[in-house]
Amino acid sequence: MSNYNPKSLKAEEFISDSEILETLRYAEENKNNTQLIDEILEKARPKKTADGVKCAGLTHREASVLLACEDKEKINQMFELAEEIKQAFYGNRIVMFAPLYLSNYCVNGCTYCPYHYQNKHICRKKLTQEEIKAEVIALQDMGHKRLAIEAGEDPVNNPIEYILESIKTIYSIHHKNGDIRRVNVNIAATTVENYRKLKEAGIGTYILFQETYHKESYEKLHPTGPKHNYAYHTEAMDRAMEGGIDDVGLGVLFGLELYKYEFAGLLMHAEHLEAVHGVGPHTISVPRLKRADDIDPNQFDNGISDEIFEKIIACIRIAVPYTGMIISTRESEAVRGRALRLGISQISGASRTSVGGYTEEERPHDSEQFDVSDQRTLDEVVRWLMELDHIPSFCTACYREGRTGDRFMQLCKNGQILNCCHPNALMTLTEYLVDYASEETKKVGFALIEKELGKIPKEKVKNIAEDNIKQIKASNRRDFRF
Ligand code: SAM
Repeated sequence: MSNYNPKSLKAEEFISDSEILETLRYAEENKNNTQLIDEILEKARPKKTADGVKCAGLTHREASVLLACEDKEKINQMFELAEEIKQAFYGNRIVMFAPLYLSNYCVNGCTYCPYHYQNKHICRKKLTQEEIKAEVIALQDMGHKRLAIEAGEDPVNNPIEYILESIKTIYSIHHKNGDIRRVNVNIAATTVENYRKLKEAGIGTYILFQETYHKESYEKLHPTGPKHNYAYHTEAMDRAMEGGIDDVGLGVLFGLELYKYEFAGLLMHAEHLEAVHGVGPHTISVPRLKRADDIDPNQFDNGISDEIFEKIIACIRIAVPYTGMIISTRESEAVRGRALRLGISQISGASRTSVGGYTEEERPHDSEQFDVSDQRTLDEVVRWLMELDHIPSFCTACYREGRTGDRFMQLCKNGQILNCCHPNALMTLTEYLVDYASEETKKVGFALIEKELGKIPKEKVKNIAEDNIKQIKASNRRDFRF
């Protein structure tokens, strides 16, 4: 008898090992069942309704059948469908962000992470508030408006008070026309009380990667420290939501365990959040294990090829159509380019994964979390996106207008993106171009904005957006939003 219960608050019941194994068996048995695969693809296809476009999404079992399928033609159909869904709900906008590493002190023993406490040769650093200011100014001078703060787990060096003070510092800095308008937080699992404090500090999304959903592997990969506790880690999003954070970001670190197991676990986690809190994850990240100080990815047996990685991204896009998807600079330009088509809606640019890295002339390696594959400047990434016909967006409007959790999902589901997110993207891109871009990027960008303004359906919205863009170009007025 399976103990599976998506409504349970116990990790081992909403991520039931027996249900995952049964799902994998079912997927393997049906991976050549063309009729079933066609039915699943049909169910997932966007459908026109009276008030917009709707997508049914897929269960973890249905999506696992797609992931197991090896037929080239069917995989191409999956890729086409993923692209169609992405276009229907996210359009061609790509939200930009950068990670900001506050501290690499850590008491955990994660075997894949260079921050593990036994690593004696990594240079340990924790930014002071003055150093945070300098990092934030450097990030603002590139054009960033949205950060994800990162820290190791260390109750003495990085207590919650330090994180809260750092968030306050980040929001307080307004350098030239710059400001950081959304701070997402990626710190270790914590208590309801601390999540409430993070919410009060005005964070955007709380991000926590599960690393692996496989309990036994999880315990081996996290042999010591508070992170060893599988249930505490897996139930963190429920505590975050209890603390009032309704935008949460899931992810697994691909390469640690078998990807089909992780994929089913990830979708079950999303189903659990929907079943208990009425709203699924705001984002899903797809990090892959990378080389790092003291870490050789070849020590781990479950690395995945780029082809499988792309299939995973497409299948997630099809299964949870309204969830944003994030890819970091762990991936190369080529992989990121393909992933964007298949469903990614947020990318980082010009990231430095070292503590204090943004104020250094040269990319430092002595305190880095992992090797960065995409080392281009933000200007280069922005221009590249536009040349591929994406709109880089620096928009942070939704959560500042209270459109979080199910209110954001409603906007997405009602197809209001073109009247809201699209003009916001064009206005914030204008800010970026005017304040930070090179001449070449400006040329490409202003031409793109001209073309994209024509796609705003409501005449009134279009006129306001055009007027705001004129003001951004002619003055220092910033931060217009719908
Ligand atoms: N300390 C927090 C925690 O334990 O969840 C979060 C911060 S940690 C800096 C962010 C993420 O980096 C981890 O959740 C892990 O998935 C990822 N990471 C760790 N080592 C990595 C590696 N060698 N390659 C790629 N990503 C890695």
